[in-house]
Amino acid sequence: MPELPEIQAHAERLTDRFAGRVLTGFTPFNFTALKTAVPLPDTAFGHSLLDVGRRGKYLLVRFEPTTFVVHLMQGGRLLVDDTSSATPRGAQARFVFEPAEQDDGSVDEAALLLTEQGKERRAGVWCVPSDAVDTSPPLDRLGPDADTVTDDELASLFAANSMRVHGFLRDQRMIAGVGRRLANEVCHRARISPFANTRKLGADGARVVAAALRSCIAESLRYERGRSDMSSSKDRPSAMHSRTGDPCPDCGDAVRAVEYSGYTVNYCPRCQTAGKVLADNTTSRFLK
Ligand SMILES: [Zn+2]
Repeated sequence: MPELPEIQAHAERLTDRFAGRVLTGFTPFNFTALKTAVPLPDTAFGHSLLDVGRRGKYLLVRFEPTTFVVHLMQGGRLLVDDTSSATPRGAQARFVFEPAEQDDGSVDEAALLLTEQGKERRAGVWCVPSDAVDTSPPLDRLGPDADTVTDDELASLFAANSMRVHGFLRDQRMIAGVGRRLANEVCHRARISPFANTRKLGADGARVVAAALRSCIAESLRYERGRSDMSSSKDRPSAMHSRTGDPCPDCGDAVRAVEYSGYTVNYCPRCQTAGKVLADNTTSRFLK
């Protein structure tokens, strides 16, 4: 799933391409694509796109009265659509803009197309009043953004929630924008066990984790801004994530995995757990 850096860089690319364009239509291609009944998408028709912003892992397609909050989930993409094909493959929803004349005299007729490959149909769009974006679903329950959370904010959240830090980092109600890849990378950068307890990490631990968040996100953002499109998960650089068995780039020890049904926790024992190999719920039983 794209995380904060991928979404942020993509929002910037879409702003460059579409800011100022006047919205003339919004078409959901199936009944699950639009998640809200009011306000209607029509309330934004005739308004110029202010920009495409981001909160957590959500894209915010912003017009003065109404903001379209877009979640890509696993396989969704918000693409520039030059085809004007009636029903593009995987199409969930389309934003149609007034054709705009470019500096070179050509006319930009591109639309914005939300697509989702696969059968899950979980990507979607929420229409919310622009003056109540942060207090309306789905953003009302998000924690602070992971790239700007302060040391003190993180320390308070650690003190109030006793959780494994890897689970904490992925919980959007705690902090917003981190998924499986960044959680693995941040724990390694912070030199802490993915199973460390947030309350026990305390204020000192929070400071280290906040610094690791900022540096891992900044690195990913640099990579992502250097691309012309959003990376797929196999392209994204990582030291730990999906590196089971590879040497740790910092110490050379083999990267280990703890497998869960939906995801894998990767870590380096030498860097993070004083050499201790963490119990693997699914396989340790069979390997003893
Ligand atoms: Zn290591």
